[in-house]
Amino acid sequence: MGLRLLIVGGVAGGATAAARARRIDENAEIIVFERGEHISFANCGLPYYIGNVIKGRNSLLVTKPQDFMKRYRIDVRVFHEVTSIDRENKQVKVTDLKSGRTYTENYDNLILSPGAEPARPRIEGIDLEGIFSLRNIPDSDSIKAFVDRNSPRQAVVIGGGFIGIEMAENLARRGVRTTIVEMLDQVMPQFDYEMAGLIHAHLEDKGVTLMLGDSLKSFTFEEGRIRVDTTKGCSELFDLAVVSMGIRPENALARDTGLMLSDKGHIVVDSSLATSDPHIYAIGDAVSTRDYLLGFPVNTALAGPANKQARIAADNALGRKSVFKGTLGTFIVKVFDLTAASTGMNEKTLKAHGVHYLASYTHSGSHASYYPGAETMAVKLLFAAESGKLLGAQIIGGEGVDKRIDVLATALHGNMSVFDLEELELAYAPPYSSAKDPVNMAGFTAANMLKGDLMTINWDEFEGLDPREHVVIDLRNAEELRASGMVEGALHIPLNDLRDRLDELDRTKTYIPFCAAGLRGYIAHRILVQHGFRSRNFSGGYLTYQGTRKKAGLKSDKPGCG
Ligand code: FAD
Repeated sequence: MGLRLLIVGGVAGGATAAARARRIDENAEIIVFERGEHISFANCGLPYYIGNVIKGRNSLLVTKPQDFMKRYRIDVRVFHEVTSIDRENKQVKVTDLKSGRTYTENYDNLILSPGAEPARPRIEGIDLEGIFSLRNIPDSDSIKAFVDRNSPRQAVVIGGGFIGIEMAENLARRGVRTTIVEMLDQVMPQFDYEMAGLIHAHLEDKGVTLMLGDSLKSFTFEEGRIRVDTTKGCSELFDLAVVSMGIRPENALARDTGLMLSDKGHIVVDSSLATSDPHIYAIGDAVSTRDYLLGFPVNTALAGPANKQARIAADNALGRKSVFKGTLGTFIVKVFDLTAASTGMNEKTLKAHGVHYLASYTHSGSHASYYPGAETMAVKLLFAAESGKLLGAQIIGGEGVDKRIDVLATALHGNMSVFDLEELELAYAPPYSSAKDPVNMAGFTAANMLKGDLMTINWDEFEGLDPREHVVIDLRNAEELRASGMVEGALHIPLNDLRDRLDELDRTKTYIPFCAAGLRGYIAHRILVQHGFRSRNFSGGYLTYQGTRKKAGLKSDKPGCG
């Protein structure tokens, strides 16, 4: 008999680690303990099952315990909870949840992949009927059954992270109008504020009510419905509530056996994914790893990193030497008809770590504009102010966002710079892209900034400008202005007239070219500076600006709300 490997948790990380372990060691004895009924189920598919997009419940079950035994000779014990670890004797204590029997198992090495549980703060009424959170198949069964049985009309989702947004979309599919209550002034903190603004606008267009900058105070049961009171004084009745206020690492086993935890309670692991005990590895949502680019500690609760860590931990637990280099947190989510994706760091993180960075904004078509169906995507790049090394990217749009974020994630992984993005030779034919792909366009713009060909001003610097020194030139045509209005106090000079009207400009002022997406602004900037004027192009133009303008309309300003 070979080495004895025990694995706690049988879903994303645990099941992958077990299968990998068998592939590299035919003689190892491998046992997986899973507290729930299912292993290797598709947690990421649960919101779509509730929304009836995924029709069959069975399609959520990627593998069954008996298949694991047949194919891999892995002993999978569902409804078995590991309740403690005795590190000195290298033993775990297990409870069979069906029979109540407890027993011990010895290990040579142990992999912990216990995941994270939905945070459910001790708020008044949180355990009332009709209030759900979503982590596993039984949770999705309960929500689906509630919707099927009661045909609710109005739901509240507490928390605007990706699970909350996916729930809002899938409840809408079932005819339920949703309100999202979010403590921050934006949904999905992966994105910077102005990019999240594009998501806010789309959610509102789809009939989702946003209550940002407000938080849950209490739930009360009232005439068969759930009353939600918020800290800002809002009080409304709903038929159903989903609490998606973040997650907490399942750290009880690790904590009780004295493994090192981070200040937020995640299990600390090294680059081999070993914990502070060299015979215990930990992976997935429960662990604190390193940021791929800067090396600071990060907690990434995503399936991709969990699966990759699983392979590495299995290698190391069976005597190989594999290294986990850290995570970029690459992320994508469907928001009704939008796709929102990010990779690497955002501005909040860069500021927190004192990194000197620049941001560029571009708006590009998903494919050639003359081929039907192109959709605009907003691309934000973050890069080192001196070297141009890529630090992060965020993209919001429709078609083609997924492939551009993956190109950028690959570029970040390869430690590339914005100058590399200029050079990338990407596949092109009109139905798929443009000869200058959105990734190239983002690279050109960012590289122009570093080469001194383009000076920009970003939306957050714009508000405080002294109008005696700065003048906005709105370069858009009359039709565009009729559709969206002109920037207050701006001079209107359509781009094609600019050269002929330069004598109207004052050389003591700084001009801010402003257009729809930033491209005409760049052309105007080049004209202005080559004629001796000071100029700073408004980065991303109106398409970026509008994401930041929605703020006032998003406050909880309905009757009954303070
Ligand atoms: P899990 O997959 O949660 O597995 C942990 C398992 O361990 C659980 O089944 C638990 O019962 C078991 N367990 C815990 N303690 C014990 C114990 N003591 N004994 C026995 N068993 C134990 N990620 C993405 O990248 N993209 C997405 O689109 C996405 N969508 C998601 C949607 C939803 C609704 C949810 C809930 C998550 C989503 N995720 C998504 C996150 C992704 O599912 C997790 O990052 C991933 O599952 C983490 O893997 P894990 O192995 O750490 O934990």
